[in-house]
Amino acid sequence: KAGNEAVEWGMTETSASFPVRKENAHKGRHGRGLLIGGSKNMAGAPAIAALAALESGAGLLTTALPESLMYTTAPLVPETTFLRLPEKEGELAEDSVSSDFGFDRYDAVAVGPGLGRLKEAKEIVRRALVETAGILILDADALYWLPELEQELSERTAPLILTPHPGEMAHLAGTTPGEVNKHRFSLAGQYARKTGCYLVLKGANTICTTPEGDQAVHTSGNAGLAKGGSGDTLTGILLGQVMQDEDTAAMVNNAVFLHGHAADLAVEQEETDYSLRASKLASYVPRAIKNVQ
Ligand code: AMP
Ligand code: MG
Repeated sequence: KAGNEAVEWGMTETSASFPVRKENAHKGRHGRGLLIGGSKNMAGAPAIAALAALESGAGLLTTALPESLMYTTAPLVPETTFLRLPEKEGELAEDSVSSDFGFDRYDAVAVGPGLGRLKEAKEIVRRALVETAGILILDADALYWLPELEQELSERTAPLILTPHPGEMAHLAGTTPGEVNKHRFSLAGQYARKTGCYLVLKGANTICTTPEGDQAVHTSGNAGLAKGGSGDTLTGILLGQVMQDEDTAAMVNNAVFLHGHAADLAVEQEETDYSLRASKLASYVPRAIKNVQ
């Protein structure tokens, strides 16, 4: 198989591998997650991702963001706690990079939604790669910095999940989005094997590749997802899901399925592919989960 023949991952596979939440569940046992993101001009992204993480199973979620964003995020997501990062005029300040993130205290960490491209962001991504003992998810602007962090990437042994759209994949692989779209399977396979990551190559028919090169393709989802913020929802669902079970490959596929299936349920019910917004998408995750449980 190894990267040649992708299986189609859908409701049946997700149902079969969906972990059962124990009756005597305890919030700490269902995973502690850390989400890092947000910047002056992408102030809503952490809220979108945090909502999705909490609707997807995260037991305890901490959101790290430039401190003033806490006031707009907390009313939208009252369940998250915060790590307020020092800022200067709404952007990460120099001393934000030495914050006590406690990367080793979380089951899973996601960096990227609305993070921005300041040099402080790069240092936070570098620290996340080195210090996260659990599962690390890098998305959006966190991926922008990855080509400059080759050594940290090659030295990472704990699980790493990357979620590029075709443009971000082109940046990672040093090619063009056109080439990525022509060779989605082979390029994703090569990159995942080379770097040892779980790679989620997004777009219609998202391809999930394991570090061994096994691939699954997803046909759930619709054009209602082709909107700003949909990727932040996926990052949140991934964060909530990967901490539920040791089988990271299955949890990654389940998260991608739930994201697409939630969008399909949304347009079947109150939404249309015109109206669907990323922050509303999270509210369909519970219905998507009911269908696989
Ligand atoms: P991003 O580009 O980071 O905002 O991520 C967009 C998300 O929406 C990814 O999960 C894509 O796979 C998904 N998506 C975008 N357009 C479509 C589409 N036409 N059909 C299915 N999924 C899509
Ligand atoms: Mg994105």
